[in-house]
Amino acid sequence: MGREASRLESPEYLLCPFCSAPYREFIPPGTVQVKCPYCGSTILVPPKFGGPVQRCPNHSESLAIGLCSKCYGSFCGDCLFLITSVKMVGKSVIIDRLFLCAKCRDGAKDGEKGTLIANTIWLLIFSSLILYAFSWQYGGWLLNIILVLLPLFIALAYWRLKAIDERYKMAPSLRKFREVSLKLNDKIESLKATLTAEELYHKIIGGKWTRLEVGYKPFVEKRLEEYMKSGLDRKEALLKIMSEDGLEIAPGLHIPLRLDDILHEIEREFKLERRKQKFFAKSS
Ligand SMILES: [Zn+2]
Ligand SMILES: [Zn+2]
Ligand SMILES: [Zn+2]
Repeated sequence: MGREASRLESPEYLLCPFCSAPYREFIPPGTVQVKCPYCGSTILVPPKFGGPVQRCPNHSESLAIGLCSKCYGSFCGDCLFLITSVKMVGKSVIIDRLFLCAKCRDGAKDGEKGTLIANTIWLLIFSSLILYAFSWQYGGWLLNIILVLLPLFIALAYWRLKAIDERYKMAPSLRKFREVSLKLNDKIESLKATLTAEELYHKIIGGKWTRLEVGYKPFVEKRLEEYMKSGLDRKEALLKIMSEDGLEIAPGLHIPLRLDDILHEIEREFKLERRKQKFFAKSS
């Protein structure tokens, strides 16, 4: 009873600073951190929700809201950055997304660049040795290939080092990430309010799912019927199905909002900003 009461009395839910999903669990007083059930990030419980006051070590005026995934230090939204790295684990590609503080971000960047340089050097040594071995049998001209490979490998490594720099430069801060996710959530809310039940139905049935799965339409119909029997109106039932199946309410806007939706929007804004800067640089 006590639990339920304090949950109902709280004016609003704690929103995950990383994905802005509401944290709906009961937070016992004095809890320092909780795990977001939606994105898995560690959330520092703000004082408003009973957590201790923790300040950002870089900005004493700002409250710390999240943890660095590497050093576990607590930082404000301007001091944590979302780093996406692609890893090969066995045969599958794993996309790793972490929020890191500036120091750990730079460390990760240096690490990635170091690995790339080391791999390039190894590749050069290895291919030189192979060519050298073959040149015993097929003639010394084979060694000339090294002269071609050397600038080629160096150019390739240089280009990839540039790409790493660019990717880290584009890493959005937690504040930016949060602003964009709130903006997109607002957009979703207004779409929910303005779209009619028929438009929503069309989005569900007309999506690419149906074309792939023959039984999807009757499946939707059946769930619709059940939800409406339990008291939801048609639109509410359709929205519920949409969020259960993680469908798009508009291009690039899933219900619930996905991390990728947010990242694409940040990328789009970043490109727009860059184009604007280029334009003004030209005209001035
Ligand atoms: Zn989250
Ligand atoms: Zn760190
Ligand atoms: Zn800070």
